[in-house]
Amino acid sequence: MVDAMIRTLQDKAERLDRQDPLAGFRERFAVPDESLLYMDGNSLGRMPLASREHVQRVLDDQWADRLIRSWGEDWYQAPTRIGNKLAELIGARPGEVVISDSTSVNLYKLVMSALALRGDRLEIISDQLNFPTDLYVLQSAVQTLGKGHRITLLESPDQIGISLDDFRQALSEDTALVTFSTPTFKSGFLHPIREMTRMAHEAGALVLWDFSHAVGVVPLDLAEWEIDFAVGCTYKYLNGGPGSPAFLYVRGDLQDDALGHPWGWWGHTKPFDFDLEFTPDESIRRFLVGTPPVLSLTTIEPALDLVLEAGVGAIRAKSVAQGEYFLELFDSLLDPLGYSLGSPRNPDQRGSHISVRHPEGYRITQALIQEENLIPDFREPDNIRLGFAPLYTRFEDLFETARCLQKVVEEESYQGYGEERATVR
Ligand SMILES: *Cc1c(COP(=O)(O)O)cnc(C)c1O
Repeated sequence: MVDAMIRTLQDKAERLDRQDPLAGFRERFAVPDESLLYMDGNSLGRMPLASREHVQRVLDDQWADRLIRSWGEDWYQAPTRIGNKLAELIGARPGEVVISDSTSVNLYKLVMSALALRGDRLEIISDQLNFPTDLYVLQSAVQTLGKGHRITLLESPDQIGISLDDFRQALSEDTALVTFSTPTFKSGFLHPIREMTRMAHEAGALVLWDFSHAVGVVPLDLAEWEIDFAVGCTYKYLNGGPGSPAFLYVRGDLQDDALGHPWGWWGHTKPFDFDLEFTPDESIRRFLVGTPPVLSLTTIEPALDLVLEAGVGAIRAKSVAQGEYFLELFDSLLDPLGYSLGSPRNPDQRGSHISVRHPEGYRITQALIQEENLIPDFREPDNIRLGFAPLYTRFEDLFETARCLQKVVEEESYQGYGEERATVR
């Protein structure tokens, strides 16, 4: 009986892989260990093979050969050139996106811009599901400004999502800014972005979305949704490489009045005049601060090309199919073993990762990594987070992942590990 059920689930994975129109993209990534089940592409995407060649070219042709002349020939324009390419992916207009700094730093710049544009309002709304760095940035901006801004965090009783009613009720004439990360990093909850943006605007507030876990895997249409500000990582589903700089978006019609902080020479309209006073550039470049990390910046481009070639629509379709298939595995194999679901069941409310919870979640994660050659990640207190990166994750990988989660609990191999947390996890 049990064997027949498992056989059926495995057959289904094989069939879905055979029918997958994106299956060929996996070959475009470095996969040195075929037996590794890598379920953490939502934290650090795999390396596109084209990135290796591209970096080699930048090193040899630009750095080694052209030396400082490369700034004028290519590097100076790279943050906006690559920003424009990323803009295509998120439905923004040319000139609305620039690549710079980290997501945390870009958030700070845009929080400071937004609060200045709504100077008479003192409330900021976010939620308890937000990524901590986003909340630290808000706290830091509030302290820097010293004007008595308040941060209201909407609660999530189920630790999965928030209610739209709570959001509506929190909005008031004092709301300056609403800012959320979506999908949320633990549960993968995808907020109703368009509706929340509209509601915030009706209340006279500005919105700042952190799309770190959305970009490259969830279709976004920033111009159509009239989003004011946005940021996001490029090293997750975009596969831009470890620490690749983030993107920053400011709606075109806000750019004249919006200014980030701190100001730096790269945001000056004529950096090489070396003026003693800051005059912001007229374009999105005003949000740049210092010299960009050229090597990390250039690895974003071949990675973006892959995502654009596949198309976010097709990526999303596969991501949803993978989520639905994984839930089937969850219900059949994992639910009976004490695992519970830490993510929404409704695919419209879910991004591209699913968290399964278990009281022994930390030790299970250790056993998976050490004994099963499976890399998920662990998020406190008990979430085993599994990311589906449709450009290289196969349905077969999901089947194998569920089997490993089953095995480690059935055989209690997690008993061999301690509860003590590693510094990086
Ligand atoms: C990954 C992530 C970050 C990381 O920010 P860095 O500044 O790149 O370290 C920030 N916010 C969210 C929502 C994330 O998922």
